[in-house]
Amino acid sequence: MTYLNFHTHSPLHEGEQTIPSLGVHPWHIHSNWTEEVRQLESELKNSRSVQEMAEQKAEGVPTMMIGECGLDRLCATPYDIQLEVFQEHIRLSESYRLPLVLHCVRAIDDVLRLKRGTHQHWIFHGFRGKPQQLQQLIDHDFYISFGFNYNPESLRACPESRLFLETDDIPRPISPLYEEVSKLRQTTTEQLREQVWENAKGLLR
Ligand SMILES: [Zn+2]
Repeated sequence: MTYLNFHTHSPLHEGEQTIPSLGVHPWHIHSNWTEEVRQLESELKNSRSVQEMAEQKAEGVPTMMIGECGLDRLCATPYDIQLEVFQEHIRLSESYRLPLVLHCVRAIDDVLRLKRGTHQHWIFHGFRGKPQQLQQLIDHDFYISFGFNYNPESLRACPESRLFLETDDIPRPISPLYEEVSKLRQTTTEQLREQVWENAKGLLR
């Protein structure tokens, strides 16, 4: 069985798989963002697997997700533009029925407000927060993806059905992270791998 590396910006290592995603990161919003969003949309429209997912014919794990996208109060992109771009991504996630990979830095109130009334699964990626913040996200139906930098208490507290692991921008294999996390959560690497794949299937439901 392969390791699911939920979110990465690097080439995969042997024995790893990921789920592709399309989106504009809040750090990388350019002045021509409306054109970029239009291009994203035409790519989604022309993708057969995306179409199958939207018609709910697909089985297994998603073949495409929206993101990473979101809000970041610490980045240089003007916040009002970030909001507009993020809302476009939410629209794409809803109309093409694709899970949304969220980047969120100090903007949880706006994220929760915008999530209200949506139907797709959202995954909070790169979570480093405390157990209290984790609980808030779980209460709002989020999945949580942890990378190498995590709060151990939160990682222990995360419900197994909501958990993903990722390397994000660190170009290392993910298998050591699975080993580390399985010890921390007192499970086996094998069980953890299976559970994470199971969670990925859950994203289509
Ligand atoms: Zn990332």
